[in-house]
Amino acid sequence: MADVEYLRSKLTAHPDFPKKGIVFLDIFPILRDPIAFETLITHLLHHLTSQTIPNIPSKKIDVVVGLDARGFLLGPILALRLGASFVPVRKQGKLPGTCESATYEKEYGTDSFEMQSDAIKPGQSVIVVDDLIATGGSAKAAGELIAKLGGKTVEYLFIIELMFLKGGSKLDAPVYSIVQSD
Ligand code: 5GP
Repeated sequence: MADVEYLRSKLTAHPDFPKKGIVFLDIFPILRDPIAFETLITHLLHHLTSQTIPNIPSKKIDVVVGLDARGFLLGPILALRLGASFVPVRKQGKLPGTCESATYEKEYGTDSFEMQSDAIKPGQSVIVVDDLIATGGSAKAAGELIAKLGGKTVEYLFIIELMFLKGGSKLDAPVYSIVQSD
C-alpha cells in the first residue's frame, strides 16, 4: 500500500540511541510533516472503521488508551475522530486520585504504569495505542489495567512492530501495526 511505504520512508533510524547497541526508530519526522501526520491518522482510522475487528461485533470503540508518552500524541486525535473517550496510562506517581497500577519489566528492573480507577467502565470496548511495540511489556501492563477496571481490550495499535521480539504474543488481543521491522 502506498501510504504504508510513504510512512515507512519518513521513519529515521538512530544507531546507538539511547545507548550503544540499540537502533532507535524515530516517528517524529511523521508528525513534523502535516501530510504525513494526516496520512498516519487516516490510515489508522480507516483500519479501525472499515475492518472487522473480531472482538467488537458492533465496531463501537468506547475508549482509546494512550501509553506514556508517544501514545499521547496519537490517542486523543483517534478518540476525538471516533467519538470515544481518551484515557492516558502514565508512569507511576503522575496521575491524581485513586489509581490502579501494574508493573512491567524493563531492561534493568521493573517500572509501574497507572490508570485512574474511574477511567473505564465495566464492559467498555478499548483500544490501546502507542508508537512502537518492542518486547510488549508496557502494552501488556496497560492491558492488565484495562482488565482490572472491567474493560475489554479489542486491539493494540502501533505505528511500528519489532517482529523479532514477538511482543504481540504477550497480549490479550490482536496487534495491528503499520510498519513491521525485523
Ligand atoms: P516494550 O514495552 O514493548 O518493550 O517497549 C515499547 C516502549 O518503548 C514504547 O513506549 C516505545 O515508545 C518505546 N520504544 C522502545 N524502542 C523504541 C524505538 O526504537 N523507537 C520508538 N519510537 N520508541 C521505542
